[in-house]
Amino acid sequence: MNVILLGPPGAGKGTQAKLLQELCSILQLSTGDMLRAEVAAGSVLGKRAKEVMDAGQLVSDDVLIGMISNRIDQPDCVNGFILDGFPRTTPQAEALDQMLDVKGLKIDHVIELSVDDEAMIKRITGRYTCSKCGAGYHDEFQTPSVDGICDKCGGNKFSRREDDNETTVRSRLRAYHEQTAPIIAYYRDNDSLDIVDGMADIEQVAKQLAEIVV
Ligand code: ADP
Ligand code: ADP
Ligand code: ZN
Repeated sequence: MNVILLGPPGAGKGTQAKLLQELCSILQLSTGDMLRAEVAAGSVLGKRAKEVMDAGQLVSDDVLIGMISNRIDQPDCVNGFILDGFPRTTPQAEALDQMLDVKGLKIDHVIELSVDDEAMIKRITGRYTCSKCGAGYHDEFQTPSVDGICDKCGGNKFSRREDDNETTVRSRLRAYHEQTAPIIAYYRDNDSLDIVDGMADIEQVAKQLAEIVV
């Protein structure tokens, strides 16, 4: 099964993709994580992408399309995948359809997490992750059960993304409305689009998603 999760920064795509990954034994493919790995590795691509990401703008379509096409070909994607952060533009959505066609694959569910923009500022500025296992947390909405210790791996080091500040989030929200939101209409016209209330609690959102995919 192949799933696309859509929604602005902070909508809960990463949080829900990790839960769906467990539930359905399919792989989360986060293009943001892939780009951050390139930045951390200091690759040519990473060096070019960093500036764009720090400004809260979108990295070029050709880079993203090539990246996803190669990733989907890896053996760990055989059971399926959850696209988290891709596609983000109409050309990416069209290229995805074409590449899946060639590979003999298809998208089974496109799910939009519907949220209020203003609430996303608080979600993003309070977001942090475990440096060891990547588990996601929030200062207020998703704290570890023991203060300072990761629930998943017991790690005690956490990190915040450089681009998770209010200024950058505002430009990312603008980029979402200008460049990404139009693809919702694309999927409404071409496929069956499901809309989930992303303002509900994490568990409630997970429940709504499970009802759609299972
Ligand atoms: P995205 O991947 O869409 O940018 P995340 O899944 O990283 O969003 O969520 C952003 C932040 O908000 C994280 O710190 C996460 O813990 C928190 N969060 C996610 N879903 C919810 C929710 N339904 N209610 C409250 N906080 C949430
Ligand atoms: P969030 O879910 O919080 O918006 P991501 O981790 O998905 O953030 O993405 C971080 C940054 O990586 C984006 O602001 C953008 O610069 C870049 N990026 C990620 N995915 C794409 C994509 N599909 N197309 C263009 N740029 C992307
Ligand atoms: Zn951890």
